[in-house]
Amino acid sequence: MARDYYGTLGVAKNATPDEIKRAYRKLARQLHPDINPNEEARFKEVTAAYEVLSDPKKRQVVDLGGDPLDSGGGRGGGDPFAGFGLGDIMDAFFGAGGGGGRGPRSRVQPGSDALIRLSMTLEECAAGASRELTVDTAILCDRCVGSGCADGSSPIRCDTCGGRGEVQSVQRSFLGQVVTARPCPVCRGLGEVIPDPCQQCAGDGRVRSRRTISVQIPPGVAEGMRVRLAGQGEVGPGGGPAGDLYVEVEEVPHEVFEREGANLHCSVRIPMTTAALGAVLPLQTLDGEEELEIEPGTQPNTELVLTGRGMPRLRSSGRIDGRGDLHVHLEVVTPTKLDARQAELLRELAVSRGEDEPTLAHNGKGGGGLFSRLRSGRNHR
Ligand SMILES: [Zn+2]
Ligand SMILES: [Zn+2]
Repeated sequence: MARDYYGTLGVAKNATPDEIKRAYRKLARQLHPDINPNEEARFKEVTAAYEVLSDPKKRQVVDLGGDPLDSGGGRGGGDPFAGFGLGDIMDAFFGAGGGGGRGPRSRVQPGSDALIRLSMTLEECAAGASRELTVDTAILCDRCVGSGCADGSSPIRCDTCGGRGEVQSVQRSFLGQVVTARPCPVCRGLGEVIPDPCQQCAGDGRVRSRRTISVQIPPGVAEGMRVRLAGQGEVGPGGGPAGDLYVEVEEVPHEVFEREGANLHCSVRIPMTTAALGAVLPLQTLDGEEELEIEPGTQPNTELVLTGRGMPRLRSSGRIDGRGDLHVHLEVVTPTKLDARQAELLRELAVSRGEDEPTLAHNGKGGGGLFSRLRSGRNHR
């Protein structure tokens, strides 16, 4: 009979590692031999339970109905029908069919992971967010605590397969006898059936439930990144340990900024006169309004870089490593609808600059070309 480690610590079967730690600390404070010498035996028991349940591998064994501290080591602990039987003799003659997986499979199976998508704005991706999520997963049936049985009843051996979980059929062929084994159709390979199922979960040991959990999304996340919430996924059949819940970030495209890793890009338009004369203009960034300095004589396609005004750089370790930059692409707008007075002023300007009879100037092979022009237009602030 496996020991009841959850009962010893007084925690639920789906308790989180934190809850287990807290329960142990509370009990240890009451029962520690230095404080309470009469309770040494219970203290040891509680400590053993904590050692088992705080180790995910050992806890899994407990959840599957075993006992990791049981040195007996046999499989299928406590099952009187797991011993020697017809199947073993068949194995000896025909070789193991299932790769060592003989015997009934456990009714208790680990649960699967779950995934939900979380829509986040660029601002939320930059600052991180704390959200309440409604999740719909299988949870442990609280009526039968995973056993699947109605009050006071328990599973019984499957008559069809005699508790082995599989049935064999022998066929005669010209090669001789061929023995095939397949999962028992009555108990679905479990070797036992529940004669009086729990009414709340119909014998599954788990029920679907909608609940609200809070999740912390760190700063710097991007489209497709996942935050893992251990043990918040689906509880398995028979109340098996829950899988993990993954929250996947779905980044909503921003109307101004385009993201390239930790760097941001935006495009602004300035009048030709501003490009020529220079100006200091307000620019909305993730950090609020900043001053954007346009140098006199700014050329079209100039790129200004605001260092450290991009997104937080989130490393795979979960650490934030500085911030990216904000690249501002300047588009110079040539005026189109000139009135007579404006045209006159521009003509005057052209004459004073000796540009009233313009000629085409080719970019030379050495110093010209689109790419070098783009590169020379980039000023770092
Ligand atoms: Zn069966
Ligand atoms: Zn139930």
